[in-house]
Amino acid sequence: MKKHNFYAGPAILPEFTINNVAEAVKDFAGMGLSIMEVSHRSKEFTEVMEQAQQYFKELLDIPEGYHVLFLGGGASTQFTVVPMNLMQKKSAYLNTGAWASKAVKEAALYGEVVEMASSKDANFNYIPKGYQVPKDADYFHITTNNTIYGTEIKEDMDCPVPLVADMSSDILSRPVDVSKYAVIYGGAQKNLAPAGVTFVIVREDVLGKVDRKIPTMFDYRTHIEKGSMFNTPPVLPVYAALQTMIWVKNEGGVDAMQKRNAEKASMLYAEIERNKLFKTTVADELDRSVMNVCWVMSEGYEEFEKSFLEFATSRGMIGIKGHRSVGGFRASLYNALPPESVKALIEVMREFESHNA
Ligand SMILES: *Cc1c(COP(=O)(O)O)cnc(C)c1O
Repeated sequence: MKKHNFYAGPAILPEFTINNVAEAVKDFAGMGLSIMEVSHRSKEFTEVMEQAQQYFKELLDIPEGYHVLFLGGGASTQFTVVPMNLMQKKSAYLNTGAWASKAVKEAALYGEVVEMASSKDANFNYIPKGYQVPKDADYFHITTNNTIYGTEIKEDMDCPVPLVADMSSDILSRPVDVSKYAVIYGGAQKNLAPAGVTFVIVREDVLGKVDRKIPTMFDYRTHIEKGSMFNTPPVLPVYAALQTMIWVKNEGGVDAMQKRNAEKASMLYAEIERNKLFKTTVADELDRSVMNVCWVMSEGYEEFEKSFLEFATSRGMIGIKGHRSVGGFRASLYNALPPESVKALIEVMREFESHNA
């Protein structure tokens, strides 16, 4: 039976990526060696790193003055690295979920953190609006896509101070006006590569403004100077990220991804709204994530939660159990997920409704 992969992360990757990585694990670049056993300083891998940076710049139309880094440590390490590099005294954060809260906690170790607004009062089921970022903050931090709660900031906002965004789970899902951001970072395991590599886009002019001593490995300038080769980079995940970016380009780039993702998401949200058994957890359509769609059983049908999960799993739907802090279900519709998988899920939802409603 065909499996449909809705995992939130690590998550589905294009077959193109998986096949090319499998090939390189056996024989990388015709070297007669596995990519897992060659020097990161080899000409062959150096080219991979350079190309990965180049593709990222091209796909996201990254302007002059920005650097692209591929590092270890995950997005969670960036929660610390961002304030270390950017916060002299004070920073502002938008608290839209568990990841944003973790970022706030780390930033508080380095200075004053102003939580501009929070949607915690409603289990993070909306994006707060109408706040004013203080002009004396060193930066403002947002999480563009809240993987756990299924909310998303889909527009690039104007911000009076340098804007920093965790884009772990929506990078390359849409065009981004990078010029509006000072730093964009994320773990690659949602939309780009297997776990192990972290991407960072950083604007040169925001660096060098803090007085603190920054440990070498946590200083962006270390990695900028060495082209992400100061120490051994995550070789295999970087190779995989490059394959995914080649695939995105072949598919028509981030514009094509945005169009396809919007179609997938609107199909699924429409079915959740139509189906008697289910309801979405995010009321405002504007706030609904295109990447992670969350829903629960409607009133009166709560008892069917477990049996729907079992039914869907028996039909090849993998990874749709909601995060424990929301419950219900979550389908992640990352770039690599084909529309056919969404259609298959909708079929399963309809069939379950016809048996039980
Ligand atoms: C998954 C995720 C993280 C955590 O990433 P790690 O690479 O595991 O540290 C952070 N932020 C968001 C939005 C995520 O989806």
